[in-house]
Amino acid sequence: MNDKNIIIVCLIFAVLGITTLNFYSIEPKEVKICEIKEGDYVKITGYIQKLGLKRDKCRNILEVKSITINDGTGHLDVVAFGKVREDLTNYIKNYYPCSIKERDKVQVIGKISTYNGKYQIILEDMDNFKLIEKLNFDRDIYLSPKPTNIYASKYGKTYHTSKDCPYGKKLKEDNIIYFYSEEDARELGYKKCKWCSKNANR
Ligand SMILES: [Zn+2]
Repeated sequence: MNDKNIIIVCLIFAVLGITTLNFYSIEPKEVKICEIKEGDYVKITGYIQKLGLKRDKCRNILEVKSITINDGTGHLDVVAFGKVREDLTNYIKNYYPCSIKERDKVQVIGKISTYNGKYQIILEDMDNFKLIEKLNFDRDIYLSPKPTNIYASKYGKTYHTSKDCPYGKKLKEDNIIYFYSEEDARELGYKKCKWCSKNANR
């Protein structure tokens, strides 16, 4: 064989090699949740149906505890461990202009496994989770670390606006949370105390 032929043979093997590699390399299969099976390596696009977050007392996000996605054909839990879970928490918490929330559209790539009789998708790399479309622009609401005149019991759903309120006075300091604004309190599902409404100027 002369040099030219050797080069040609090498090229043929290189092309064959690349083709075979591509053929066998693992590409995720784009599927609907209703089609998943244990062991499948899949790509799923859906909405966040439920986002379980661990927060500190001012509502800052500390950790993503659980994510359930739904694509209209079913729902599926997304699971991440260790460093990936930390990265996932930061991605969700720091998304601009506001954190990732329920109803946002995401895409997840991973392997399907079962746990306690339920299917779940394991996230092995943060590149395998991404927001496709931001749909929920609800404001991120935080609580004040310092006392304000808008407060509630962390166990109730009524907020007070007067420090003279007889109901507000009954609350134990340790159980009180403070809002930056009445709007924040209302958005978090709190209703204004009747006494505080009637005695607005006190
Ligand atoms: Zn009150």
